[in-house]
Amino acid sequence: MKNGSIVIFKSKADHGLTASEKKVVKKLIEAAKAIAPIYQKQENVAHSGANFYPHDATRDEIAAADKNDRSILSPYTVVERSKDGKLIAIPYHVKYKTQLEKVAHLLKEAADLTQNRDFAKRLHTQANALLDGTYEVSDIYWLTMKPYKIDIAIGPIERYNDQLFFTKCSYQAWVGIMDEKQTEDAVRFKDFIVSARRRTLTPSEKVDFLNKIQVRVDNTLIFSGLIAHFMFTSSNLPNDVKLMERYGSEITIFKESFNKKFDTEHRPIFHAIFEEKFQQGYPAEILRLGSLRNSYLHEISHPLLRYRDAEDRLKEYFPVFDEIAASVFGVKACGSLLLKDVISQKELEAIMVTFVARAFSWWISYLKEPGVVHYAQGFAIAINFFLENGAIIESGGFSWPNFNKMFLALEELSDSLETLISMGSYNEAKHVVEKYGSLEIFERFRPNLKNLI
Ligand SMILES: [Zn+2]
Repeated sequence: MKNGSIVIFKSKADHGLTASEKKVVKKLIEAAKAIAPIYQKQENVAHSGANFYPHDATRDEIAAADKNDRSILSPYTVVERSKDGKLIAIPYHVKYKTQLEKVAHLLKEAADLTQNRDFAKRLHTQANALLDGTYEVSDIYWLTMKPYKIDIAIGPIERYNDQLFFTKCSYQAWVGIMDEKQTEDAVRFKDFIVSARRRTLTPSEKVDFLNKIQVRVDNTLIFSGLIAHFMFTSSNLPNDVKLMERYGSEITIFKESFNKKFDTEHRPIFHAIFEEKFQQGYPAEILRLGSLRNSYLHEISHPLLRYRDAEDRLKEYFPVFDEIAASVFGVKACGSLLLKDVISQKELEAIMVTFVARAFSWWISYLKEPGVVHYAQGFAIAINFFLENGAIIESGGFSWPNFNKMFLALEELSDSLETLISMGSYNEAKHVVEKYGSLEIFERFRPNLKNLI
């Protein structure tokens, strides 16, 4: 069901919740719903700065005002014009006080109902953060508490709607219940990849940070606010890098929105772009698992590939390499999972096949939403590299002549991408994008994909 800024995922399963847990979840869903009206006040597609800034203010005027008052470009303030025409910043918790009191009240009611004391404390710190802006206190508690099967993220979180400065956070909420079996699989992948990675690093503070990456796969019950608009299939929070380095991060995979993406895009794309004979070896469910694993491999790999000066060096090319390197590194890391018999060769192949399908899915997203061009370009680099090396061939659709060749190409590409991120220059990045980043390969399949575009 989609109702403006709320998406409710219908599920027949009761997720093994007790009667009291069900009451808690009900309250949390009410709290999540109550976030949507605040998001709607912030959203405005007619302006690149949405409703975060006065519509008559230029980028320069806002940037100049921020020099005198740093709260102007805080992620958590609305900028308005005072009577004398000056730009002033009003904290979110002041601006949206009435609505936030309602949300906080519902969270506190849920806290009174839960029998899990840590979770009750989490809901209280979260409610307080909404009312007084202490988001960091609440985030730290969330990141350091023992994972609990019920989870909620609620507040001003993602910056995508501020296309003027990419600073202001929009309100959103989700409520989910852990899928324990799939979470086990994700944790197994994470532990394996992180420990393999640790062996290649020299002792540093990074090692400590690697221990604090958490991953979970959730049955999502509701999306509200920004996330209902973008329908993300995964999230990796917090966004604050300093906080992430100190306290780790929590990766959440949203199974319901993932399944929708798989059924409406990844799977039909697979049938549209691969050679027919090649398709036969991969039934739907093995592909679904392969694609889901791509989601968590990507998120797990992001923090492993963080190099502090990369953004300054690679400038506008940084997001291209940041995203594709995480995807390629994740799949490459599965080679050792195969060697240790954690996954079968067929499962690894399914991960690779869906990697290619997901590349086309990003191109389709880009056609609808040009803001995600860096994903499409990054995947184009991978596909063009595979074609150049004969790792995949195109003849009546894609196929690969030989699994080992595909795997070796992945390894080579992953190493080159990491070298570029860790020490490459702006000109080297530019050269790679010019040589391999052409979207023409996707265009060639446009007739096959006409039902999806
Ligand atoms: Zn990413």
